[in-house]
Amino acid sequence: MNLRIAHLYPDMLNLYGDSGNVLCLQKRLEWRGIDNNTNRINAGDVANLSDYDIIFIGGGQDFEQSLILDDLSKGMDVSLKKAVENGVVILAVCGGFQLLGKYYKTHTGDIMEFTNILDFYTVGKEKRLIGNYAFKTSEKMEIIGFENHSGRTYLGKGLKPFGKIIKGSGNNGRDRTEGVRYKNTFGTYCHGPILPKNPQFADMLIEKALKRKYKDVKLEKLDNSIEILARKQVRGMYI
Ligand code: GLN
Repeated sequence: MNLRIAHLYPDMLNLYGDSGNVLCLQKRLEWRGIDNNTNRINAGDVANLSDYDIIFIGGGQDFEQSLILDDLSKGMDVSLKKAVENGVVILAVCGGFQLLGKYYKTHTGDIMEFTNILDFYTVGKEKRLIGNYAFKTSEKMEIIGFENHSGRTYLGKGLKPFGKIIKGSGNNGRDRTEGVRYKNTFGTYCHGPILPKNPQFADMLIEKALKRKYKDVKLEKLDNSIEILARKQVRGMYI
């Protein structure tokens, strides 16, 4: 078995250790003896994103987001939309999550037209939403992590959030939604990085990617005792 991972815009979109998510996927595959290789895809590169099994997009500040707009509009948006619709497993964090939507109006009034892949938009405010936070997914997974964003995201009616806020702000600090979930695409405000802090979710992504590519896959269990201990300690500090 082999999984191909794409790390999209790693030089521009990488906040608060987000690239640790890619390391986490690589390690959890390696520990199970599953081959994997990662391609870093930067602005200017030509890539058919549907050729990959997992795509990761990290967070970035408004400035970095503005730098990739041009590249997105030159075809990466279409490639990304196809990958979303084809059911490629995609994890997009914060600034990376925002770019899956229609637009982002920054707190200074600039409008960035994004990919319009999913029906949501984001509006920035001067007061940032910052802190350790937690939310629950429909599988009853409790995700813990860190958020730091100016943008408030509002999902269109037909779109499901990734989770429901337990503590913190999530999409907009008002409707208790967190992130977005569509097919095998997960958008979230969760830095942390999210996957090392939430190994159950990391394995969920790996399992989805393997099952999509190979039939009858049973994911071997790993010893998560260190991760669970770390989670307990972090969680106890703020929930
Ligand atoms: N620039 C976006 C915001 O502040 C995203 C920030 C981030 O990725 N942490 O809303």
